[in-house]
Amino acid sequence: MSSPPLAPPGAEEPAPRSRGTIALLEENCTVCMLCARECPDWCLHVEGHTEVAPPTQLGARPRTTHVLDRFAIDFSLCMYCGICIEVCPFDALFWAPALVPAEADRAALVEERDALRAWIGLVPPPPALDPAAEPSEEEAAAARQDAVAAARAPR
Ligand code: SF4
Ligand code: SF4
Repeated sequence: MSSPPLAPPGAEEPAPRSRGTIALLEENCTVCMLCARECPDWCLHVEGHTEVAPPTQLGARPRTTHVLDRFAIDFSLCMYCGICIEVCPFDALFWAPALVPAEADRAALVEERDALRAWIGLVPPPPALDPAAEPSEEEAAAARQDAVAAARAPR
């Protein structure tokens, strides 16, 4: 899918890390509904259904997964507070440097998952870590696990 233009013809392009619009990384969305519940404007529409997969091993229980059916944002209501992005526990929402196209009809400002997904290609990579910074909790835990594994390895 080709990325949409950053801005309409003649308009100034938004800066790379501007809060232009919200992009959805659909693969990361677990349909947990947290963003929709926390949005102060009720402008997020998230719908999904549950599917049950048979157990992969004898004696195991069937796996239940949530499948996304609809993800839409009503940009006529959105106030760009960023709460949905902050609360998403699975890194499925990002600011993207594109402008939501102006529309004469307010209903046309509801952007569905296809548009939100297309904007993900515009999201800049995270800034490089400060080399002098302390390692993250995850990196520290991984380093501890590596050290334990190395100590237990046969010599
Ligand atoms: S909070 Fe994140 S994972 Fe949960 S429904 Fe919203 S976008 Fe999907
Ligand atoms: S930025 Fe704020 S108002 Fe807009 S969809 Fe997210 S939580 Fe709702």
